[in-house]
Amino acid sequence: MIHLVQVALENEMDLTLAYKKSNKAAALIGLSISTQTAFATAVSEVCREIIDKTHEGSLSIEIQGSNDRHDLAAVITYLETEGVDNLREGLQHAKKLVPVFNHSIINSRGKIELKLNIPRSAKLSNEKMKAIKSYFELVEPNTPYEELRQRNTLLFQINEQSETALRQAEYLNEQKNEFLSVAGHELKTPLTILRAYTQMALRSECSPATLAHIKKVDTQALKLQTMILQLLDISRIEKGIADYNIELVDFNGYLNDMADLIRLLVPSHELLITMDESRMVNIDKLRIEQVFMNIVGNAAKYSPSGEQIMLDTRFLDNGDLLISVRDQGIGMSEEDLHKVFEKFYRVQDITTLFNGLGMGLFICSKIITDHGGKIWVESIKGQGSTFFFTLPAPVEFS
Ligand code: ADP
Repeated sequence: MIHLVQVALENEMDLTLAYKKSNKAAALIGLSISTQTAFATAVSEVCREIIDKTHEGSLSIEIQGSNDRHDLAAVITYLETEGVDNLREGLQHAKKLVPVFNHSIINSRGKIELKLNIPRSAKLSNEKMKAIKSYFELVEPNTPYEELRQRNTLLFQINEQSETALRQAEYLNEQKNEFLSVAGHELKTPLTILRAYTQMALRSECSPATLAHIKKVDTQALKLQTMILQLLDISRIEKGIADYNIELVDFNGYLNDMADLIRLLVPSHELLITMDESRMVNIDKLRIEQVFMNIVGNAAKYSPSGEQIMLDTRFLDNGDLLISVRDQGIGMSEEDLHKVFEKFYRVQDITTLFNGLGMGLFICSKIITDHGGKIWVESIKGQGSTFFFTLPAPVEFS
């Protein structure tokens, strides 16, 4: 006989342990899953009765027999105090689950034995039995307290590992921001110089062909410059140092001044601007210009040439200014409506068709929320999109 494990039967936690141990023993021996479950259920049915109605209960799981015939056995002993009958009902179910069920009482000491034959297919050699025994001795906890302690240690280790991973991620994030910031600044200076020269060359006298080439260089340099400024913005936002130069501005005057610039951005589209009455707003002019450029630029980028782009402004009843930019382009699905404002998010099926880095709308939403406004998009895939943002009414001081 090889004794595998002993469990004192005193409370609910012991019951859980009894189930798990008997299930594990059957599994390690190589019995089928249904036999494992039947054995473990029978053992726990008996153990429940013993814990509820008797004293000094104890479970021993053993491999009995020798050489060519082995049984897996659960031997439960207890101190009988209230008569055999009170247990009878509870043991009926267990009896049906295992082939051998013996119950005896001698001098108030009860003994219940549940057994099942281990088939030859399980190949239960001496080495295998030793390995199972040492598994229970070394790996499996022998008391509920021990099990809790092992779980606590495991949780502690997992916690330590996730904290280390978090610290590493934070460190890498800081490094990435630092890189973005340094690379952005390093790239910004030569590009600014490059554009200064292309602008000068564009004003100089040269052949139309040369002029066309320089214009192309300038357009590409402008695109690069915009991306670099976006990279720098992201790194500022991440560091929490996005700063604003807020001033009180007459909105229609501001928009009229900007209209030519915006039109330059979308030469192949028809931009229609409708403005509500003019009122004062508190804004950082350059930052809000950046929002207009990005949203109108996107409206052109994501819709066919020649289509209209409608830019409307309207003051709401609460005094907030609502701005909308509508296009008749590719639109987007409902699940993308919120995601497009996330950092580096780009709608999956367009990435190969349109250039971009997915930074613009993230920066726009940061600028608008920092102004106290809201930004959102309504869209139907294939039918166009309308981007909305609000700017709050200026606070009046009396
Ligand atoms: P980028 O355009 O550089 O990819 P943005 O942050 O400006 O980055 O936009 C994020 C994504 O939102 C875009 O990649 C595109 O999938 C989607 N998007 C933005 N504007 C529009 C629009 N007007 N119509 C359809 N999709 C748009």
